[in-house]
Amino acid sequence: MIYDHFFSAALARLHEERRYRVFADLERIAGRFPHAIWHSPDGPRPVVIWCSNDYLGMGQHPKVIGAMVETATRMGAGAGGTRNISGTNHPLVELERELADLHGKEAALVFTSGYVSNETGIATIAKLLPNCVIFADALNHNSMIEGVRRAGVEKKIWCHNDVNHLEDLLAGAPPDRPKLIVFEALYSMDGDVAPVNRICDLAQRYGAMTYIDEVHSAGMYGPRGSGIAARDGALHRIDVVEGTLAKAFGCLGGYIAGSADVIDAVRSYAPGFIFTTALPPAICAAATAAIRHLKTSQWERDRHQNRAARVKAVLNAAGLPVMPSETHIVPVMVGDPEKCKEATDLLLAEYGIYVQPINYPTVPRGPNGCALRRRLITITC
Ligand SMILES: *Cc1c(COP(=O)(O)O)cnc(C)c1O
Repeated sequence: MIYDHFFSAALARLHEERRYRVFADLERIAGRFPHAIWHSPDGPRPVVIWCSNDYLGMGQHPKVIGAMVETATRMGAGAGGTRNISGTNHPLVELERELADLHGKEAALVFTSGYVSNETGIATIAKLLPNCVIFADALNHNSMIEGVRRAGVEKKIWCHNDVNHLEDLLAGAPPDRPKLIVFEALYSMDGDVAPVNRICDLAQRYGAMTYIDEVHSAGMYGPRGSGIAARDGALHRIDVVEGTLAKAFGCLGGYIAGSADVIDAVRSYAPGFIFTTALPPAICAAATAAIRHLKTSQWERDRHQNRAARVKAVLNAAGLPVMPSETHIVPVMVGDPEKCKEATDLLLAEYGIYVQPINYPTVPRGPNGCALRRRLITITC
């Protein structure tokens, strides 16, 4: 048997469906955000990145770089072990305190990525609730879907942001069964926001626990950058906040924040936390510097919102199909995979603008089977 044939056939299927992905080889230039060098097939070329998740450029903020360099110089490159086996370094402990404070919770727990925090966090929490039912928004991120799947408990999917549907499902579940509602604060493909308070009303009425993903909103919205739940005055009603250190905070890592007991239980039971090496101290110190900066500085958030509004206005004035959104996400619906790819190729080749087409399965296929959504997100310069 020639095993490689299975893999080449799998790749051929992706090419056939125009879903084969090519990554741009980029070199970001610290101090010139969002400029970068694109190592193109024809050699290096200057480009401007229009689709970065390092929304506020914190990844190259002098305070953040300074903390990273200073800490690496003092403490070395790696953590040296799992949290249990000598990996709990002091900057990591400080980072968790900073995160607990950011989200107004008793405690926080850091993971190696936002993906891992959802995958292992949701699964562990649900498994610790006897006979739990999970209620998940239909457009949840893949990391949450995997977390729900790994929980191995009964799940009910509610139509995206549809609180009436959520209520029907909650009402249909036995009152004495533990319930966990998992959803995102801000959905990064369409840029829409969850009705957090209305979801919390239902959680209260039906005795459910709430788990919110603030990955695209932490650092970006709310007082001190605490996120959408904080902005909407609902933070105290949320049981678990999940976030990343890799988007607005510009570094790497993920976390959950909640009551001391929830956090201690996840720390004690989650395989995706226990059996992997801790984040390096330099990354923890850098993330802490970014969080602390954004807790007191509103300037980056205001400027970013202004830029996003300007992009929407300019694209709309040019007659482009911008989907309305109330956030910094600016989705442009092209609707045809070929044209979408063509447009982004042209922007890169002719104008030095790097924007990634967003394809199925990141977004659903459209009603006529060919819609692609792509976001021209977040102008940040
Ligand atoms: C990016 C993302 C994650 C994963 O975070 P990483 O730190 O990049 O692993 C989780 N949830 C949502 C909604 C995301 O967009």
